[in-house]
Amino acid sequence: MDTGRKKVGFISLGCPKALVDSERILTQLKTDGYDIVPSYDQADIVVVNTCGFIDDAKRESLETIGEALQENGKVIVTGCMGGEAEQITSVHPSVLSVTGPQAYEEVVSAVHKHVPALNTHDPFTDLVPPQGIKLTPRHYAYLKISEGCNHRCTFCIIPSLRGDLVSRPVGDVMEEAQRLVEAGVQELLVISQDTSAYGIDIKYRTGFWQGRPLKSNMQALCEALSSLGVWVRLHYVYPYPHVDKIIPLMTEGKLLPYLDIPFQHGSPGVLKAMKRPAHAENTLERIHKWRDLCPDLTLRSTFIVGFPGETDQDFDVLLNFIEQAQLDRVGCFQYSAVEGAKANDLPDPVPEQLKQERFERFMEVQAKISSKRLQAKIGKTLEVIIDEVDGEGAIGRTQSDAPEIDGLVFLNGETELLPGDLVRAKIFQADEHDLWAELSH
Ligand code: SF4
Repeated sequence: MDTGRKKVGFISLGCPKALVDSERILTQLKTDGYDIVPSYDQADIVVVNTCGFIDDAKRESLETIGEALQENGKVIVTGCMGGEAEQITSVHPSVLSVTGPQAYEEVVSAVHKHVPALNTHDPFTDLVPPQGIKLTPRHYAYLKISEGCNHRCTFCIIPSLRGDLVSRPVGDVMEEAQRLVEAGVQELLVISQDTSAYGIDIKYRTGFWQGRPLKSNMQALCEALSSLGVWVRLHYVYPYPHVDKIIPLMTEGKLLPYLDIPFQHGSPGVLKAMKRPAHAENTLERIHKWRDLCPDLTLRSTFIVGFPGETDQDFDVLLNFIEQAQLDRVGCFQYSAVEGAKANDLPDPVPEQLKQERFERFMEVQAKISSKRLQAKIGKTLEVIIDEVDGEGAIGRTQSDAPEIDGLVFLNGETELLPGDLVRAKIFQADEHDLWAELSH
């Protein structure tokens, strides 16, 4: 049915943080009386939210903009890559406007300028659901607690794209979390560039939530989130001493016993060259201490092999690190230069073939560890959140698995369950990624 309203096509590229930006822009456009449509030919204008993190992502962004220009002609660009507008306008001079990340208002006003909304928005019939428009399934949602980053890792250009850390007021974060939970969200995924740095920029100022004072720091925020009665999962945490205070909340079942910590390397020399946060901490000791306190703790991480200057000895230290750390879920990347990153100027690049060899050796060691940790779950009864149900059964995740990046639990034959259901299931099979279980009654 044609509503007579102006129509916007929307393409969201990139990471969960970009997805949160997209959700905000979509919510505002709906509120302003636009329809969101799924194809170029139905749209009066197309917005592309770009990613500029690595060169592949930039290439994908430029291709997508080109396709949108060809298929539709009216294109507005925003997001990380828009932080450096000439990278886009030099290839695609006909885009209507380019803005950087978190430029919600500018994107929305660019849409208004180029395709004015007809005045058909009726606040009584067109109400945007109070929780906003979500691109993630209804039962989980990303909760962005800050923008930007105060660190200067030499391989990363996020601070130059997104600026220094800006923590959101704790009251705003909590109100958003509460709205999401009231709308049916069962799992909140806390994201930022450095979750452990929350509040540093605002000197841990006291905010308010539900009329009560609340400190803007990681621990107070986690305690408040845990009072909402849903799964709360922390992403992008660094192994600072103050993170120790969060572990008891996990032991008490208030936060999911899960930490996503991008360690990136295990050798102190490489970590120093990378200028990683907490590079001087004794991370292995900290991990062992956390596991003593919370034996069910799941640790996910990512690593880079072949960073400039990485020697055979550094690489052996890294392998030893992952053997000792016994991480549950691990991603590994071969170092590749990102335009504008300081690491490009470092001496002693690692030859491509050696990078590949190290990558393969790393993955071989880690695959055994991940698989052993999953096999140890066989026979256990675990809580599972259901993500999808079809004619063959249900697919869910345990508390150890974040959506989209970790493993799945298959409950064959369970066709009566619904997405968002929380069930208890006994694990009877595991491979190196996923689990198979039956409901336990
Ligand atoms: S912590 Fe390092 S890698 Fe992460 S966003 Fe900040 S500078 Fe980039």
